[in-house]
Amino acid sequence: LEDLAEPAAAARAADGIRDALRAPFSVGGRVLTITATIGVATSSGGGIAGDVVRNADSALYVGKAEGKDRHAVFSEHMHATAMERLTLEQDLRAGIGRGELMLLYQPKIDTRTGRMTGVEALVRWNHPVRGLIAPSDFIPIAEQSGLINDIDTWVLNAACHQAQAWATSPTGSVPVAVNVSGRSLVSCGLVERVLDALDMSHLDPRLLELEITESAAIPQEGRALGLLQTIRDLGVRIAIDDFGTGYSVLSRLQGFPVDTLKIDLSFVRAIVSETAPAPIVDAMIAMGLSLGLTIVAEGVETETQRAYLVKRHCSELQGYLISRPIPAAEVVERFVSRSVIAAVA
Ligand code: C2E
Ligand code: CA
Ligand code: CA
Repeated sequence: LEDLAEPAAAARAADGIRDALRAPFSVGGRVLTITATIGVATSSGGGIAGDVVRNADSALYVGKAEGKDRHAVFSEHMHATAMERLTLEQDLRAGIGRGELMLLYQPKIDTRTGRMTGVEALVRWNHPVRGLIAPSDFIPIAEQSGLINDIDTWVLNAACHQAQAWATSPTGSVPVAVNVSGRSLVSCGLVERVLDALDMSHLDPRLLELEITESAAIPQEGRALGLLQTIRDLGVRIAIDDFGTGYSVLSRLQGFPVDTLKIDLSFVRAIVSETAPAPIVDAMIAMGLSLGLTIVAEGVETETQRAYLVKRHCSELQGYLISRPIPAAEVVERFVSRSVIAAVA
């Protein structure tokens, strides 16, 4: 936009464009509506054309991160954030190649026997300068840059190798659950990657479970659903992660290729007394059990929560009360052939 009276005029123009795009389009007999996110940058501070475009792109990125369907005006702060992100992304790309990813394992226990039923593999990035980085600080970046496929593939292979090492050692079988990002689910090749990981590790497919978030799994139709079915037909178990947060239609669960529901920790947190009802938790357990599924409560931190969930016949517990995510060797030391409820009490 040339000859702007003031920078705010650019923002008004952006909203005008968004209004114009809001009108429904008719395409092949179907009415479609679209929204737009617009990044705004001005050359008021001088700078060459390339800089203005780059700044608009940074603003666009922020607008998308803030929820899309809006405009965002560039500020210097955005540039700094974008640069930091870019550095982290480049570090991550190199770090994956350098073997800087590692896995911790968080045990789950059976509420009836108190014994470990398996572990969830949780990735960490051992950054040479920053130290151990939590997944919440790099998985979102990986998802936006497409690196998530590399991470999920690495995790899948590493977890299968560990599970096979346990299975062929005196430790015995320890089923391992692996998180699969929604992005990995829709991108092609998941079935092949699972087959490759099983093949290379020689792991019994029944010792592998894939965790897919409710919001990624349940709205899927057709191809993605068929994909989950194919993986499940191999003998690999499927878990719905963060269950209860996705606002999905619960009736869709019927006939869905799934073995396990993991109740999101936000619902477990709502259990504050052994007697006060937590109706959503009750409903999720009852429904899951009636569908013949294994119900895992995530984020169990207190004895009160444990007692409540045991009383409601929740199948398995996972959380800091039982154990934080720990290295593979510690899993064997602390959890193999031991009643953990006894150990916790
Ligand atoms: P998630 O799959 O829901 O994993 C459970 C998270 O809850 C883990 O955080 C775990 O450390 C934490 N947690 C377990 N017990 C408790 C508890 O009692 N209290 C509280 N407050 N938290 C508890 P973490 O390891 O930081 O992972 C965060 C998220 O990052 C995971 O959530 C998952 O969505 C993602 N993630 C982790 N590893 C991978 C991976 O290998 N691939 C992909 N795609 N995503 C991963
Ligand atoms: Ca998970
Ligand atoms: Ca979860």
